[in-house]
This record gives sequence, C-alpha cells and structure tokens, in this order.
Amino acid sequence: MTDQSNSLHVRDVANLLHPNTNARRHEAQGPMIITRGEGIHVYDDQGKAYIEGLAGLWSVALGFGEKRLAEAAARQMQALPYYHTFSHKSNAPAIELAERLVEMTPEGLTKVFFTNSGSEANDTVVKMIWYYNNALGRPAKKKIISRARAYHGITIIAGSMTGLPMNQRDFDLPLPGFLHLTCPHHYRNALPGESEEDFATRLADELEAMILREGPETVAAFIGEPVMAAGGVMPPPETYWTKIQAVCRRHDVLMVADEVINGFGRLGTPFGCDRYGISPDFMVLSKQLTSSYMPLSAIVLSDQVYQVIADNSDRIGAFGHGFTATGHPVATAVALENLRIIEERGLIAHAAAIAPALQDGLRSRFADHPLVGEVRGVGLIAGVELVADKARKTKFDPPGQVAAYLHARAQEHGLILRAIEDTLAFCPPLIITEAEIGMILDRFGAALDDSYAWVKTRAAP
Ligand code: PMP
Repeated sequence: MTDQSNSLHVRDVANLLHPNTNARRHEAQGPMIITRGEGIHVYDDQGKAYIEGLAGLWSVALGFGEKRLAEAAARQMQALPYYHTFSHKSNAPAIELAERLVEMTPEGLTKVFFTNSGSEANDTVVKMIWYYNNALGRPAKKKIISRARAYHGITIIAGSMTGLPMNQRDFDLPLPGFLHLTCPHHYRNALPGESEEDFATRLADELEAMILREGPETVAAFIGEPVMAAGGVMPPPETYWTKIQAVCRRHDVLMVADEVINGFGRLGTPFGCDRYGISPDFMVLSKQLTSSYMPLSAIVLSDQVYQVIADNSDRIGAFGHGFTATGHPVATAVALENLRIIEERGLIAHAAAIAPALQDGLRSRFADHPLVGEVRGVGLIAGVELVADKARKTKFDPPGQVAAYLHARAQEHGLILRAIEDTLAFCPPLIITEAEIGMILDRFGAALDDSYAWVKTRAAP
C-alpha cells in the first residue's frame, strides 16, 4: 500500500478551510484535485478528464488552455508587474481596458472603477450610491432593494443583497436597510394560470408598493442580475425588466445591473442589459472579463453619478475609496487580451448561434423525464430543476439530495455541473462546439437515468 500521509489530499484536509463546502464532509471525502485544463476539459490528479459544464465558476469563457492569456500576463509582468492607481497614478493596460469597457457598455455609462472580485465591486457600488446621495444632500436615501435568491457576493454589503439563506444565516446578514422582493421565477412563484406578463406586472407592483411603504426618500437603488444565475438559473418573465425600470425611474431609484455572470456573451448578447433593454446607472462586471485567469472586476457608472461623485470629492479632498490592486496592470492586460480574443473569434455571436443546441437539446431530451420539473435558460446558461412530483411541482424533501446524487453521477460520467438545491446548472465555456454540447447532453442523460433508478429504489417499500 502506498503511503498517503503526505499526499496532497491529506495535506488539503489538514490545512484548508474550503469556501462553500461542508467542512466535516470534506474531512471524510477529501478534495477533488484538478491539475490541468485544455479547452472545455479539466483533468484530475488521477488523469481523469471532465467537461467543465459550469466553466469553473461560470467564468472561463475561453476554456482552460488559452496560451495568449498566459503570454499577455507574462509580458505585462516583465514590463510592469504592479502599480497602483491611487493619487493620480495610472498605467496603460488599466486605461486601455477602461476605454474598451466604456465603448462596449450601453450609452450613458462613461467611467470605470476597478476592483478584484464581484463582491468587492458590489460593495463598492453601494458605497458609491451612499456617497452620491450624501453629496446630493439626501442622507436618508440609502436603502437597497434586491430579490430573494439573488446572488451578489458574500462580503458584508454584497452578502446583504444576496438572497440565499446559506450566505446569510449565522452571518448576521442582511444588514438593516437591505430589502428583498419575490424572486422572478415564473415556474415557482407565478399564481396558477398567471401569464409571464401578468406575473411581471405583479412583481413591478410589488416593487412600487415596497418603495411607497418605505418612503421613496429612503430608497436609493434596485440591484438585479438580468438573468439570475447562482440562485438557480432563472431568466426573467417576459416584460419584467421594462416594468421594473419604469418603477425605479418614477421614484428616482438607481438601477444596478449585476452582469458578473451574464456579461461578455453568456446570453448570446454582449450584456444582459442589451438582451432585456435595461439602461442601468451601474453595470458590475467580472468573471468572463478575464475568463477568471486573473481576479478582476469592474464597475461602469453613469456620467450623472460620476459628476456628483467628482464634485463631492473635489469639495472634501478625494474620493476616499479604492484597493491596493485597483487597476492592476497584469489583471487588466489579461482582460484586454481576453476581450480581443472574444472579439476576433466572434464568440458572442457563436454563443447565440449554438445556444439552441443547449436549450432545445435539454428541452427535447429531458423536459418529459419523470424527474424533471422545468428546463429553463437563455444563451449558454441553463438550469434543469428536479421534482418529486412532476404534475404538482413538489420539491424533494429534504431538498438537494437528488441533485447532489445526480451531480456525483455526472462527475463519474465525466461532466462537472453545479447543483443548486434541486436544480442542475449548465454554463459551459463560450468556446464550446455543438458536438461538445452533445457530449454534455449524453453524460447528463446517463446521470439523470442513474438518479431516477436511485430515486425509485429509495421510494420502494
Ligand atoms: N455577482 C454575481 C451575479 C455572481 O454570480 C457572483 C459570483 N458568483 C458575484 C457577484 C460575486 O463574485 P465574487 O465571487 O468574485 O465575489
């Protein structure tokens, strides 16, 4: 028997506390160690290949072996490995990337602020909003409205806007002043017989009632992912964003589009805002911005907000916010190369063109399966929700076990997905081909059949 005592598996369990992981279960089962990646595949330390059906954490647009990103990082490391952007300092990659992002994003967004993660970006947006309303002499206008099952990150402010119990319970979150509306998930939350349009109207009315109840003079902003992702992949009902936007404008409530997952082609459009006709005051970007080869996030803000911030910082001396790595030259150089490749290879149009292979493929092959309650998605992001009783939409009790089983079976079949309660999420790299989508569907189908057999044995007397 080989001595495992010094293996990476043992050292992992001995030394690491993993994010978003059951720590005791981890002690028992140990880590899955990924050693390399190529295209849409990653390989574990036993040499087994997996299709990364979630692009890592919804983020590796270019797949796992893009040499040009490594070269861009190496070139920048040698030219200027680090410099900051405090106190009027700057660097070329940060300037070029800011210019590129202003060009790409909707009209009216004119300035970029760099951060390192989606959570930091969302915290920064809220601080900007508070600063903006203080500058305008309306210090009571500070509340932020989000939605149940939203995911905006896990720092104290971002975690307050997230609407998932796991990220809030036992962390004393949300903070006061962070409110949550009904999740715009038609399958679960519409009334019997309610159309998508009527459901959207009801949700916009709910937003307006909340603003009026709280007092518009206390409500600063509404934040949303155009398509909700980490809460279970939930595209909005028809007409939702137009109606929500009208309510926000009516009450002088700023709109924040969290495009951390949607941005850069995930939905087959440059941004979720393009797909749904949203004109936000802030857009939050990360993940596919660098294909996650480097940590980087960005806020793109409106000229109107910028002018107020600029006037106020002039009055008090400076805009007192920023990070050591704000505008990091290596991260921004990698982002520029990543965006160049997305453009050169036409990957946004590619995502739109092959989306039906994923969306129609999932629906035609699995929507009628007895375990499947709903198949949903847009572009190259999709969710398959499992249910105990298809006709009644009954959830499994306890939730999550069947999806966890399916997730493990899929991994056996060489496919990494994400289980969110009883929804399996799909979000492959944008470089995926139609044939590779076929492989995802085959492997998922095998895991679904395994899971159905398992559910039937469990149900047997
Ligand atoms: N916003 C959204 C929409 C996200 O999906 C995520 C991460 N999944 C975040 C914010 C937080 O990003 P990070 O994990 O980089 O803090």
